[in-house]
Amino acid sequence: MDRLPEVQTRALGSGVALTPGGCPVCGCERRLRVTERNHLSVVRCPQCGQRYVWPVPSPEMLARIYDRSYYQGAEGSLGFKDYAGLAPARHRMFGRHLDRIERLVPRGRVLDVGCATGDFLAVARTRGWEALGVDPSPAREQALAAGIPLVGQTIHDAQVEPGSVELITFWDVLEHVQNPVADLRRARELLSRQGIVAITVPDSGSAVARLSGDRWFGYKTAGEHLQFFSAATLQKTFGAAGLELMVRRPVAWSCTLGFLVDRAGLYLGPPGRALNRLASRTGLGGLIVDVPQVNQFAIGRGTERWASSVAA
Ligand SMILES: [Zn+2]
Repeated sequence: MDRLPEVQTRALGSGVALTPGGCPVCGCERRLRVTERNHLSVVRCPQCGQRYVWPVPSPEMLARIYDRSYYQGAEGSLGFKDYAGLAPARHRMFGRHLDRIERLVPRGRVLDVGCATGDFLAVARTRGWEALGVDPSPAREQALAAGIPLVGQTIHDAQVEPGSVELITFWDVLEHVQNPVADLRRARELLSRQGIVAITVPDSGSAVARLSGDRWFGYKTAGEHLQFFSAATLQKTFGAAGLELMVRRPVAWSCTLGFLVDRAGLYLGPPGRALNRLASRTGLGGLIVDVPQVNQFAIGRGTERWASSVAA
């Protein structure tokens, strides 16, 4: 049940390295097979319930996913056909996130992890935040061109003083990483005493996901997404990193009608493609829409033990 020999063999043939270690949330080394997508296996941890891609694709394979075509001209379920075209939708969504954040923490320094083209930081800056970003992808060039200071590629190599950041954000990032607990733990080190971490990840425990079982369309992102968080496993992930969850709620994901019907064509087959033609004919493709319940939004802060050890 926890051995997947045939999958491993096939996966190795497509550039996947076998990785040691267990569940990225709780470390359990047993795993149950959920489904197979994009020549990768999605498994479930019998101990904490986290679903994740295993074995993990090699760094070379992951790097190929995030080359320029990820943000421009991507076909199929990976990446974005036109990331820049979604900027107005993202600005609106980031404004809503900041409304929630600014109730909990005074404006100061913000580090956006996986800042891509720097859209969030541009919004944060107009609201009085000191913006810093990290990103390993070629999209970082656009952030630099927009005058966003980049302090590294990932949170682990970020050149930032520990204890000096009021807000660290991971917008749709933790589902892409191999070790979300390590990333959040490093974030906790960088946070100031009053600092918080704010994140969004897809809601893999949504009613749609639960009802569709192993046929859930979210699994089509396997490879690009390595983690599939439910509310419960997200809470465990924060806990394992020494962060206390202050807020967790489903939130809408903003995009354009054009993006939505494009995805519908991909996931729904002919009815989706008919919608797609309709949208391009009516010229409504640029309309911003908020898709409810797609993501979960969460805010965490260091547990008390951490706060007192900083003070000491
Ligand atoms: Zn687990």
